[in-house]
Amino acid sequence: MFDLKIVNGLIFAGASAGQPWPGCVAVKDGRIAALGAAISGSARHVLDAAGQAVSPGFIDLHTHCSIGHNLNYLQAGVTTVVSGNCGFGRLPAELPECVAGRCGPNIAFLTGHNSARREVVGNVNRAPTPGEMGRMVELVAADMAAGAMGLSAGLEYVPGYYAETSEVIRLARPAADAGGIYTVHMRNEGDRILDAIGETLRISEEAGLPAHVSHIKTVGVNNFGRSREVIAVLDAARRRGLDVTHDQYPYTACCGRILLLLSQRLQEGSPSDLRARLDDPAVRARARSELTEKLERVYGGDTSRVVVATAPDAAMVGRNLAEIAGMRGRSAKPDDVADAVLDVVKEYPDQTAIYCVFHNIAEEDVRCFMLSPFTAVGSDGWSVKFREGHAQPRHYGTCPRVLGRYSRDLGIFPLSEALRRMTALPAERLRLADRGVIAEGAWADLVVFDPDAIRDTATFDEPHQYPVGISWVIVNGQIAVDHSRPTGLLPGVFVPRPATPARKTTCTV
Ligand SMILES: [Zn+2]
Repeated sequence: MFDLKIVNGLIFAGASAGQPWPGCVAVKDGRIAALGAAISGSARHVLDAAGQAVSPGFIDLHTHCSIGHNLNYLQAGVTTVVSGNCGFGRLPAELPECVAGRCGPNIAFLTGHNSARREVVGNVNRAPTPGEMGRMVELVAADMAAGAMGLSAGLEYVPGYYAETSEVIRLARPAADAGGIYTVHMRNEGDRILDAIGETLRISEEAGLPAHVSHIKTVGVNNFGRSREVIAVLDAARRRGLDVTHDQYPYTACCGRILLLLSQRLQEGSPSDLRARLDDPAVRARARSELTEKLERVYGGDTSRVVVATAPDAAMVGRNLAEIAGMRGRSAKPDDVADAVLDVVKEYPDQTAIYCVFHNIAEEDVRCFMLSPFTAVGSDGWSVKFREGHAQPRHYGTCPRVLGRYSRDLGIFPLSEALRRMTALPAERLRLADRGVIAEGAWADLVVFDPDAIRDTATFDEPHQYPVGISWVIVNGQIAVDHSRPTGLLPGVFVPRPATPARKTTCTV
């Protein structure tokens, strides 16, 4: 007797080369027990997937999730999330017990350079001493031993920005030794993006591990259209034999701390250091002129392109910078807005106090990056509470948007290829052989959805909306979403880095 049988569906096994075929999947003890045109034998639950696609559960390489229900992921078909990206993350203590019974999707972790540096060196703009360097290496090695997938860096953030490339190479080596990967939110995603790609490739080459560029994009109206250049450099590196891939969220805005608008120099030390710095008239004047220049250059002077997503002051949430300046009796002009932003930062100088949505990416670049067969789908989202804050829609809609809008409606690629980007490709990057595929013996992480109906509904104006068209989501053989509704089950487990040695990524396209 099987635990579960999915019948009458169209099965997409994960790799894009294989055509989908009509058939059945049977599950027992958390794993796929049988697969075929028809499967005899009864099951405790039978799901009729007539007219629907049956896919491996989606694997999101790029999240900042915590251990919890993560309904915004489960209801989008995501059955495994990778957390600890952009340099922020240490492995939780007492893995895997701390995950069991507490997490909706499966969860894997990266260990973060920013976290190690903050813990050992502090939020300071200097090189580590040899002793501090040794301590950071120990932290990375310890997290790798605990099952981390690799090292993540976030070199645009402090304190990661203060690190020389050689420091990151040193820290990537223990990750390389353990067969891990290097993922990076690059030092620059705008004017100096090619330098940042060069740094990424150097780290990969000198530390000897695969590289993965997080949330690939070209930022700023002055950089619109540069995706072709960036992909050309990455393709050239692959031709030289480097193992490099990327992930992307399918939106024309990014989301992050309001402090991303300010120079990293200002952000050294504690929140009160930042506040004190802005009290110095000379520092403030320089910060004002830098920010004014940035609003002109990156946003074309349109200060409504930046919208507050979360803030301690509820009146600010959902308002753009022009409106916030207006609330403070200032105009929407960049220099006036710069003053308003600096006032806000002085009031709330904590790094994570205020998050913004930055509308600074071109749709043509989104599509160009998406066309590369080396681009996986990754949300860059986190565990959000329904209707709390003015979230970026990527938290809810990323995978359904690629399947509905980009694959079905715009015809960027066939459904099987769209699914490969969120199943087989991320599984391959993590070297997971038994997830991201539908095969006998693999974990039963499955999504059943209607290819004609699947669609993201979260928008920039109404971000807290679950996608439609996803009927069932199964995690480790347990039904986590039933007829598009969460069942409340928390079947996710900790997914450690597999013990087998690293191998090079192959692309089937
Ligand atoms: Zn990032």
